[in-house]
Amino acid sequence: MNPARLPPRALEAAGAPLLRPVRERPRRGLSYRELLERVPAVVYVAGRNGVSSTIYMSPQIEELTGYAPSAWEADAELWAKLLHPEDRERVLTEAKRTNESGELFDCEYRLLTRRGRTVWLRDRAQLVRGNDGTLWWQGVLIDIAERKHAEDKVAFLAYHDQLTGLPNRTMFEEILELDLARARRHDLSVAVVSVDLDDFKLVNETLGYDAGDQLLGEVAARLTHVSRETDVVARLGGDQFLLLLSDLERGSSLRSAPEEEGTTLTAEVVAARIQESMRRPFRLGDVELYATASLGISLYPVDAHDARTLIQNAEAAMYRSRKAGPGGYVIYPSGDRRTGARLKMGTLLHRAVERREWVLHYQPIVNLADGRTVGVEALVRWDDPARGILPPSEFIALAEEMGLIEPIGEWVLRELASQSVRWREQGLDLEVSFNLSPRQFWDPGLASKVIEPLRSAGCPLESVVVEITETAAMTDPARTQEILLGLREEGLRFAIDDFGTGYSSLSRLRDLPVDTLKIDRSFVAPLPGDPQAGALVTSIIQLANGLGMVPLAEGIESEDQRRFLTAQGCVQGQGYLFSHPVPAEEIPARLR
Ligand code: C2E
Ligand code: MG
Ligand code: MG
Repeated sequence: MNPARLPPRALEAAGAPLLRPVRERPRRGLSYRELLERVPAVVYVAGRNGVSSTIYMSPQIEELTGYAPSAWEADAELWAKLLHPEDRERVLTEAKRTNESGELFDCEYRLLTRRGRTVWLRDRAQLVRGNDGTLWWQGVLIDIAERKHAEDKVAFLAYHDQLTGLPNRTMFEEILELDLARARRHDLSVAVVSVDLDDFKLVNETLGYDAGDQLLGEVAARLTHVSRETDVVARLGGDQFLLLLSDLERGSSLRSAPEEEGTTLTAEVVAARIQESMRRPFRLGDVELYATASLGISLYPVDAHDARTLIQNAEAAMYRSRKAGPGGYVIYPSGDRRTGARLKMGTLLHRAVERREWVLHYQPIVNLADGRTVGVEALVRWDDPARGILPPSEFIALAEEMGLIEPIGEWVLRELASQSVRWREQGLDLEVSFNLSPRQFWDPGLASKVIEPLRSAGCPLESVVVEITETAAMTDPARTQEILLGLREEGLRFAIDDFGTGYSSLSRLRDLPVDTLKIDRSFVAPLPGDPQAGALVTSIIQLANGLGMVPLAEGIESEDQRRFLTAQGCVQGQGYLFSHPVPAEEIPARLR
């Protein structure tokens, strides 16, 4: 029975106050009851025993929650069931308090609607004694979604920068405090990086504030892009940004490095990555602009133990870096100790370049349909006498920053060329891929630097694939096209590496003379269980096939992944399932 339709007499018989039937009609021809059911609120009467047993619920409740009054009447537990799990305990405690003390009930909470949404309500009720002495709840529910929304917005604004949507200083400090507490418990390190654009004032003055805002938005996006998902990027206002790197291991994977040095290195690699991301021109409307930033880094626990001081130190270091010249970074304090660490890493890398402490490992690239190895990718490692074999993640970014990537890249090419010739002499006809860093790619002397080593070793250019990352390729697609077309005339072929991690313009992609699209392994890893990743990978495969490129999936680790990818039309693959990167000597055996 719908209590809203209960004859007034029945309500009265139930002892409900307030809803006393009204005999005389008010002026506009509506009964009080009808009036009640038109106000933008829900009026209810409920029993006191248990959490709720609804006697009357005005019909507006249906629009709010999707449950008609009859449903409320039929199920005494409905209200408690619909309370949002995060609010339930608090609200039930309050209700109990009202039941016991007779005090006013005044609560804001969320109810789950029939369609699974939430509504924010304010519920005000009092205990009222009926004719027979029983106590009843008599209350009003008001929809407060709009006010809540406004409050959320205020809260958001209080914690975020309006222009970029990034966290602001307040939020940054709060998160930093939490991360510091965690770092204390688990003996971890935390780094704070202060980032400040050089000559930002000039942009505002010459191009206008709109351009300035646009630049800040773009810088925010690049900083977010180069940081890890768990890092925090904040804007303090103006052209000042802060980065928080938390949960850093106190030692590093550089096994012989002392504790502090490990953290320093991580922060340095991030600093190098930030500087690298700034190197690409910014496009503001029709204008292309180059900007640099000065960085300052401060570390917990070596420099400071609290959020404020860490931020202050990072900013002080940033100013020192700015003073020394644009586009650099300084680690706080720039005393002998730190400079020493940096010098040491620099020295180590320089020494490695001099002594050619590099080795190439090769990872087979297979034809997914029949498992045949069609080529290998050359991946460089640092064979440090003290620390053993180090992966590229330990040194490539820093090498780029220090201008040492060119000699490393040159070594890679010469080594790969002669290895390829040796394999050929053994009767192995393999395509060989190698990775080109962005800095090498934009080098005006690229063509001769790539072709000369290959030619002089007698390695056929047609058997060599140059891998460039999507980000590098799409930075300036017109120039990329020019460079690729030039090299292609010589016979070289190209692959876009880590596809899916950058932003590609599809029309530009179509125009690039690229043979292979390498799907980044972050898309492959969740396969085949993750439908979203599955859809993404499928569409990248279709895109590649549609553009006449060979789709290649990186990082295949399981048979299920291989099967899924093959079914979707992926042609080539690479990954631990087939082989880890291995020394050159092991390749012939893997082919047989
Ligand atoms: P990349 O070109 O995308 O190379 C693939 C990376 O994925 C390699 O890491 C490889 O070991 C790893 N990998 C391959 N299969 C699997 C798998 O099934 N599961 C997982 N989890 N990983 C897999 P590596 O050797 O550490 O190289 C990392 C990156 O360093 C390369 O990414 C490339 O961007 C860069 N790099 C490597 N060698 C050179 C080089 O000679 N010059 C330059 N500039 N960069 C290089
Ligand atoms: Mg690669
Ligand atoms: Mg890759």
